[in-house]
Formats: sequence, C-alpha cells, structure tokens
Amino acid sequence: MGTTVPEKILLAAPRGYCAGVDRAVQTVQHALELHGAPVYVRKEIVHNKHVVETLRERGAIFVDSETEVPEGATAVFSAHGVSPEVHANAETRNLNTIDATCPLVTKVHREALKFAAEGYTIVLIGHAGHEEVEGTMGEAPDSIVLVETVEDVDSLQAAEKMAYISQTTLSVDETSAVIARLRERFPHIIGPRTDDICYATTNRQAAVKQLAEQCDLVLVIGSKNSSNSNRLVEVARENGAQSHLIDNENQVQESWIEGMRVVGITSGASAPETLVQNLVEFFRARGTQDVSELQVVQEDVRFMLPKKIRQAMATASA
Ligand code: SF4
Repeated sequence: MGTTVPEKILLAAPRGYCAGVDRAVQTVQHALELHGAPVYVRKEIVHNKHVVETLRERGAIFVDSETEVPEGATAVFSAHGVSPEVHANAETRNLNTIDATCPLVTKVHREALKFAAEGYTIVLIGHAGHEEVEGTMGEAPDSIVLVETVEDVDSLQAAEKMAYISQTTLSVDETSAVIARLRERFPHIIGPRTDDICYATTNRQAAVKQLAEQCDLVLVIGSKNSSNSNRLVEVARENGAQSHLIDNENQVQESWIEGMRVVGITSGASAPETLVQNLVEFFRARGTQDVSELQVVQEDVRFMLPKKIRQAMATASA
C-alpha cells in the first residue's frame, strides 16, 4: 500500500489564536519580564498543551488553585475567568494578582451579576466542570442553574423571573436549539440578543463549516480540553467531512489520510499558528503542492493588556 498524497490542503480562515488568548499569553510573557521568574499561573492560561509547556520553560509555574501560590507572589488568572471566591483567597494571601480573564468572559460574569441582583433565576448554558462555567457560576451560585442540552431544559422548574446566559465557546447550532427550547417552555425568559458565544468561536465554526463542505478530511489542531476546538471537530463532521482533533502533526494517523483527496486544516482559538504551519509542512514533505486558504470571515479584534501590566510597563520604561 503506497503513501497517500492529498491533492490539496485547504486552510480555514479565520483559525487559531483569538484576541482573548493572545492577550492572556502576552500577559504571562510580560509578567515574567517585569517581575522575573517564577510567575504563578492559576490553571492552564489557555487550553493548549504547547503554549503551557513553552511558558513553563520560561519560568511560569502552573497551579490548580490560588491557595498553592506562596504568599505575596505574582499570580496570573487564566483567560477562562475565576469566581469571586478566588479573588478573595488571593487577597487573603496577599498575592500580586494579574487577571487575564478574556473581556468577553467578563461580560458574561457582569450579565450574571446584573440578572441575579434583579432577582432572576439564571439558566447558564454550558459544559459542567469547564473552568469558565465554574467561574461564572461562582458569581451568583444561588441564582444559577446549569443546562447542557435540550433535554436538560425539559427538566427545569419554571420561575417567575428567568434569564439565560451562555458559555462563550459552545456550538452555535446546538446552543440556538437549547435557547429555542428555553423560549418555548418559558416564553417570559430574557437573555442576550442571541447568545454569549464569542466572535472567535462563531467565526471559526462558520469557517470550518464551509471548509468541511469542500474537504474529505478536516484536521483540527487543539488540545483535548479545549472546548472550542472540540466543537470544530463536531461541526466539521456534521458538515460532511471526517474530522480529528490533534495536538500536532505527529498525531496524524496514516489510516485517516488514506484515499483522502482534499484535506482541510483549522485550529482552535488557543492553538498557535506554528503548529498549523508544521502540519502544512508535513503534507508538503509528502508531496502535496496545492496549499490554499479559504477565507470566510475577516477578523480585526484586539484587546488591551490588563491594566496592571500596562501600568508596570509604563513605569519600567519611564
Ligand atoms: S475564545 Fe472567545 S471568549 Fe475565549 S478567550 Fe477567545 S475571544 Fe475570549
């Protein structure tokens, strides 16, 4: 059996790093430059193995809880957000905290707080156990109930005042089905205009949808614990392509490529572009020459670094 050489590689655009991930990774890099190693990071700064390893080599120490950080040390909170309890623990330990929570996650926290203050029962659409969900629920634990599926909506109790919010990295299509069911069962429920799924998740899913229609196989670069990367695999499969999630080119299995003419590549919001380029090189080395990009949406979102970092940088350069 000979080695399959796909005729064509098609890259989804947009793919990879979003503004929130870029900001969070830069935050840790700047914190290391400004404060020196070690800098403690609560949880994985973003859900990508390669990024975490690279920062670890530069002196970041990843911990599961703020309670593991030595008193007075510098600690960065990850892009996924934290509950008020975590901030309180950090204060008790006198930590120099730098919060790298994505502003689009902070927006959901604010919605939760506002609805809770107004006496609403809040339905949070999200995945149990995900860090972002834990952080958001921590804002108003007594007011929030979590639903993951349409079936979960069917077992909800009605309340006089109801509102919904969502995790930022869900499947756009599945979430709209859950919201439709919520509106059907509770016509008085209020919420954001559509959902809280962020621009990056929405755009990457829109791009992989079109990509999958033109490909036999779609390879998604991203880590197993990355919610938005897993959704990309699902969307690709739902749109007619075979699809697999891989950390890097070394995980590509020969049996996946066998007989595949057009191979699509995309990457989750926390996956660096170098990993994509390494995968492209893997195919070029086999003999694939036709490599092009399928641009579906243009993105130009940027977030400012956290205030503490900006201030420290200004002081350092003064
Ligand atoms: S995926 Fe969306 S919510 Fe998450 S860090 Fe990126 S921009 Fe922010």
